[in-house]
Amino acid sequence: MSNNIMDSLGGSCTGCGVCASICPLKCIDVKRDINGFYYASTNQKCIGCGLCKSVCNKFHQEYMNNIYKIERSKGYLMYSLDDEVLQKTSSGGIGKEICEYGLDNGYKVCGVVYDYDQNRAVHKIIDSKKNIDDILGSKYIQSYTVDAFSSLEKTEKYIVVGTPCQIYGLRKFMIKNKIDDWILVDFFCHGTPSLNLWDKYIEMIKRKEHLEKIKSVNFRDKVSGWHNFSVTITDEYGKIHSKSMNKDLFMRIFLENLDLNNSCYQCKFRFNEVFSDIRLGDFWGPKCNDNEKGVSIVLSNTKKGDEIIKKLMNTTYVEKVSFGEIKTSQYIKEITKPNVKNKFQEKLKKDIALDDLYRKYVIPIEKKRRFKRKIRSIKVKIKKVIG
Ligand SMILES: Cc1cc2nc3c(=O)[nH]c(=O)nc-3n(C[C@H](O)[C@H](O)[C@H](O)COP(=O)(O)OP(=O)(O)OC[C@H]3O[C@@H](n4cnc5c(N)ncnc54)[C@H](O)[C@@H]3O)c2cc1C
Repeated sequence: MSNNIMDSLGGSCTGCGVCASICPLKCIDVKRDINGFYYASTNQKCIGCGLCKSVCNKFHQEYMNNIYKIERSKGYLMYSLDDEVLQKTSSGGIGKEICEYGLDNGYKVCGVVYDYDQNRAVHKIIDSKKNIDDILGSKYIQSYTVDAFSSLEKTEKYIVVGTPCQIYGLRKFMIKNKIDDWILVDFFCHGTPSLNLWDKYIEMIKRKEHLEKIKSVNFRDKVSGWHNFSVTITDEYGKIHSKSMNKDLFMRIFLENLDLNNSCYQCKFRFNEVFSDIRLGDFWGPKCNDNEKGVSIVLSNTKKGDEIIKKLMNTTYVEKVSFGEIKTSQYIKEITKPNVKNKFQEKLKKDIALDDLYRKYVIPIEKKRRFKRKIRSIKVKIKKVIG
């Protein structure tokens, strides 16, 4: 076995950090690469034991034996019955309900907090409900997992929430170590934008809106509703940046897929396969068009998932939905890589203002999309007229 096993992953490393967390000799470093994504590579101490390979998605083959195919999951439309929970969370607050259930029942929770000193998303283990608000809400940047995942103890009970790639690594780790007491929760994942983009964006917001040290970041503020959510950033003196997703530059770039991790464009876990007990997402289906508080799509993928959903019946609204409905409520195709993605990421490293990059690279894509949509609707109208 080669000594640089993780280095051979090339562009497909997701930066999930599970390899580094389990390496007994601590010979894997997960560092930010030049494009602003976490990336695992082995250091001089590596003896080529191959443990990292056993949890790495690059070497995964489950698809062959159908165990984790998403069609086997049960689908639900769910939301918390508590308006305060809905207000604080990204969709229907089911993430919070699950974590609260866990903390009430002897589990510790490993979720993602925003670290305001470094302006980073970081996985952290909490064991008390008084810290639960810290891990609520989606942080649309890659989280650093290694410290938290390294502290997970095989004999403890945990609920771990993470991206599908992070959860894949942990599922493999559980199987390998015959761990039964962890509950894994992931979400339908659009991918993660880079820290290069996030840093440039934060710098721009601070400069333009005269913000000092950031005190709160909400990527999914429901001030203007759940569908038209806003990014809201507040500094220590209460000065605020708040823009709706259609106007906020970070969200526009993220949602136009211009700056995702390379591995996100070839992700195996976005729709086909699921390794968590429960998968969460936004229920963007037509059924919820008029709801502005937030609704979650919830997949139960295992018996453990079924048990948790049963336990949440008293605090949530639950409605069973078909697989067809799940498909219409989620973007299930592979994410297309825009032609200018590499150029955009190169320019992001340079001293060029984010507004200029937005004008040059994002606006043409948006225009093209609007034009295509117009043509589609004209075609539909013509079809109607000519019968
Ligand atoms: C990067 C990213 C991309 C996403 N893409 C989609 C998508 O395309 N479609 C869709 O329907 N939903 C997507 N989601 C999930 C969605 O934003 C909501 O988290 C989900 O609907 C659950 O909402 P909630 O209100 O139940 O829980 P929330 O309160 O929002 O809880 C979310 C949970 O996710 C964890 N978390 C937050 N940020 C991160 C992070 N960066 N990495 C790992 N875990 C994190 C938190 O610890 C928390 O436990 C994405 C989330 C993230 C973080």
